[in-house]
Amino acid sequence: MVIVTENCGKCKYTDCVDVCPADAFREGKTMLVINPDECVRCTACIPECPVGAIFTVGELASDNAGKQRAEKWAAINRKFSALWPTITKIKKTEQSQSDSCKSTRKAQ
Ligand code: SF4
Ligand code: SF4
Repeated sequence: MVIVTENCGKCKYTDCVDVCPADAFREGKTMLVINPDECVRCTACIPECPVGAIFTVGELASDNAGKQRAEKWAAINRKFSALWPTITKIKKTEQSQSDSCKSTRKAQ
């Protein structure tokens, strides 16, 4: 399972959405999540995220703390992907980014 985690908060740069072949992303007010039933686990979105918010459950769960974090965010992705609308179009606009996301990108 591929999941979006807390690092995505308020970043709507949505590079991840641009590469998804399955339209698996869902859009909330402050973050995106991935619908596990639609995701084909290609992992194309992982390197596209500028703030390192996307992981496979396996890579996140390398120790006990990571396992708990993976379980928590897997549940959040599953729950909210059933409630939030699909996002298929990238939103690369200055307005759509939070200040923290912009500064993170500049620092990289
Ligand atoms: S690129 Fe990363 S931080 Fe930006 S919307 Fe996608 S998952 Fe969130
Ligand atoms: S792993 Fe592939 S199919 Fe799943 S959300 Fe990322 S880009 Fe889309």
